[in-house]
Amino acid sequence: MSGLNLLREELNKCVRCGTCRSVCPVVWIIGRETASARGKLALIQSYLNGEIGLSETYLKHIKECTLCGACKANCPNGVNTTGIISAARADSVEKLGVPIAASLVFKNLLNTGGLMAGALRIATRLQSLLFKDANVERGLLSRFALPVIGNNRLLPPLARTFFLELPEVREMAEGGATGSTRKTLRVAFYAGCGINYLMPEVGKASIEALKKAGVEVVVPSAQVCCGMPAYSMGDVKIAREMALKNIEAFEAGSYDYITTSCATCGWGLKNLFRKLLGDSPEMKSRVEAFASKVRDISELLVNELHYKAARKDNGPERVVTYHDPCHLGRNQGVRDEPREVIKMGDGVVLKEMKHPCSCCGLGGGLSISNYELSMEITKRKAESVRESGAEIVATACPGCMVQLRDGLHRYGVKAKVMHVVELL
Ligand code: SF4
Ligand code: SF4
Repeated sequence: MSGLNLLREELNKCVRCGTCRSVCPVVWIIGRETASARGKLALIQSYLNGEIGLSETYLKHIKECTLCGACKANCPNGVNTTGIISAARADSVEKLGVPIAASLVFKNLLNTGGLMAGALRIATRLQSLLFKDANVERGLLSRFALPVIGNNRLLPPLARTFFLELPEVREMAEGGATGSTRKTLRVAFYAGCGINYLMPEVGKASIEALKKAGVEVVVPSAQVCCGMPAYSMGDVKIAREMALKNIEAFEAGSYDYITTSCATCGWGLKNLFRKLLGDSPEMKSRVEAFASKVRDISELLVNELHYKAARKDNGPERVVTYHDPCHLGRNQGVRDEPREVIKMGDGVVLKEMKHPCSCCGLGGGLSISNYELSMEITKRKAESVRESGAEIVATACPGCMVQLRDGLHRYGVKAKVMHVVELL
């Protein structure tokens, strides 16, 4: 209970005002008190006081959360609600362990080129046996009901060649980047699992944009999963190992910036690594040196590189709306920069949707632990996209892209989902 005990003081800051109820996407759907941060904090307090145990009901309530951070951002007393809920999850994992399947996946994601990549390579070949083309852009539907997945869920196809294995990307691994004059800035690209296994095209568009902005790009080959999925599920031990592996992978080269096109990974690299590894003074300075260089790709392009694309407006107009990923807008404060990138796209007219910063429903492992609830949250987002009339919904997180594609398909909204860098 040690991690949780440290949060007792934080729990005591909650004055039960209920402001967090009005902004919580889970409360909007299921209404009951335990869905809200206030309710969860009361439960965790009871658990710490020994009034309740690690029951199924307790675990269900602490999992009913996307960790979107809306409660934390709106709490008048500044309670670290998501920190408390994450600590409660970590405590339950410490006591009960991680489900075997999740543990296997997390352990293998520790090595991007290892068993996981091999298993996924086989899965890439087998996917047509289990799934059929959904006749919508970038989506597969299962041919029959599958455990966890169900049979009407739109899934992203696995990439034929993973991003980190593309020949042109391998050439950009540290040591392979030739002809560096060091007159230009040197930027290391962190792909993350979404881009590596599912959306290499987003990685390619990112590198293209960085090159157009005039920097030298390196893609360190020893990078692994950022650890955010493991951390969200409460597996702090694996998340810490992943953080350390990544720091070592990027310490092997010398970079002016480290950038990513995944909002969730970006939050992990900037903030989670500090939290997980900043205990000893030696580690603290290594993490600080790493984290201080991390920028979301739109932040880097707009604020540091002052990139301005040569926009062409002689083609058809494209009406684009933007979904703010929680981990970028609310949690990193990066809202204007992705919109600036969108506006650089040929023929683009940016049209804001209602509630652009409300959660898409994916986060906090909810789309795995309670898929139907996560999709109910996505419904509100899908309706906002429909009402905007946009033909493209752009965002800055591969995870949100997967959830939005599934949700738009489920609720019959025709808009195409793209990453902001794909508009350049
Ligand atoms: S808004 Fe903050 S203080 Fe108010 S109930 Fe929620 S967590 Fe407690
Ligand atoms: S993090 Fe989001 S989903 Fe979780 S309790 Fe807070 S507002 Fe609700």
